[in-house]
Amino acid sequence: MNTPLPRRTIRILPPPAAGLPRPSALSPQPPPLAPRFRVVVASHLGMCFGVRDALAAAERLAALGPLTVLGELVHNPLVRERLAARGVGEASLDTLPGATASTVMVTAHGASRRDLAAWRDAGRQIEDGTCPLVRLAHGKLARLVGEGFHPVVVGRRGHVEVRGLTGDHPGAVVVEEEADATLLPPDGTPLGVVSQTTQPAERVARLLEAIRLARPGSPLRFVDTVCQPTKDRQRALRALLQECDAVVVIGGRGSHNTRQLAAAAEAAGVRAWHVERPEEVDAAWLVGARAVGVTAGTSTLPETVDAVVARLHAIAAGKEDAR
Ligand code: SF4
Repeated sequence: MNTPLPRRTIRILPPPAAGLPRPSALSPQPPPLAPRFRVVVASHLGMCFGVRDALAAAERLAALGPLTVLGELVHNPLVRERLAARGVGEASLDTLPGATASTVMVTAHGASRRDLAAWRDAGRQIEDGTCPLVRLAHGKLARLVGEGFHPVVVGRRGHVEVRGLTGDHPGAVVVEEEADATLLPPDGTPLGVVSQTTQPAERVARLLEAIRLARPGSPLRFVDTVCQPTKDRQRALRALLQECDAVVVIGGRGSHNTRQLAAAAEAAGVRAWHVERPEEVDAAWLVGARAVGVTAGTSTLPETVDAVVARLHAIAAGKEDAR
């Protein structure tokens, strides 16, 4: 009796294209590669409303006529390039007479009333882009001074916002490091303390303690003026650090709050890289990472964040290898 032959399915393969090897019907296609790492985007990151509104105002004003911004609108080269492309000039706060436009804009960082008056006296039309939360900090400090407290600002000496905060209060003390507590007036002097809006909350608490220790006999009143968007970004970073073993921080190298985010990640023992542009992300950094977090400072454009996230996904998918 004839035993029936087993049934076989025969795949007819198309002829190979010239120069290409013929695929084998027996070797299965390789499965798609699993991503090398997860990309986790912080719940709060990037441009805050204060910077967004100031940027929109600058672009609106530039469309009406020549405009000079006093200082850097934000410490982010991509934003500055975007404004320069629209013909917006920049003048140093100290070299205002060199500004070419009659209309000058105060940035979101704010300015003192004294500087504003000087610029008006120099014949400039002032457009005030001060963030409402910086304006609030000015009001809090002025109120403390009005109540008899000596003005103290926890923040970076020379930063444009701190310069604006202290400009109307001769003798104001800036505390940037613990050692600066020696600059405070004699023990017993009532001290009224506010903070630069972008300072990390832990740093403010540490410096406040240094002030208390240095002047134990001074009545001290502290008003927390770190802004909510800064606090949101710092809190979101802490959550990110719980699940990531590497973090990419996006923002201008001159951006204080961006550098603080990178420093906070490193202080928590998580590898962090600070980039301004997507092409700066190097796939070699991320070899072996399981989850890569993304955060960005308050002056970072949303499109820059999107481009960095897209590049990270491409690296995770093996589409962009280490250079
Ligand atoms: S960081 Fe805060 S204070 Fe500064 S512009 Fe943004 S919202 Fe305003």
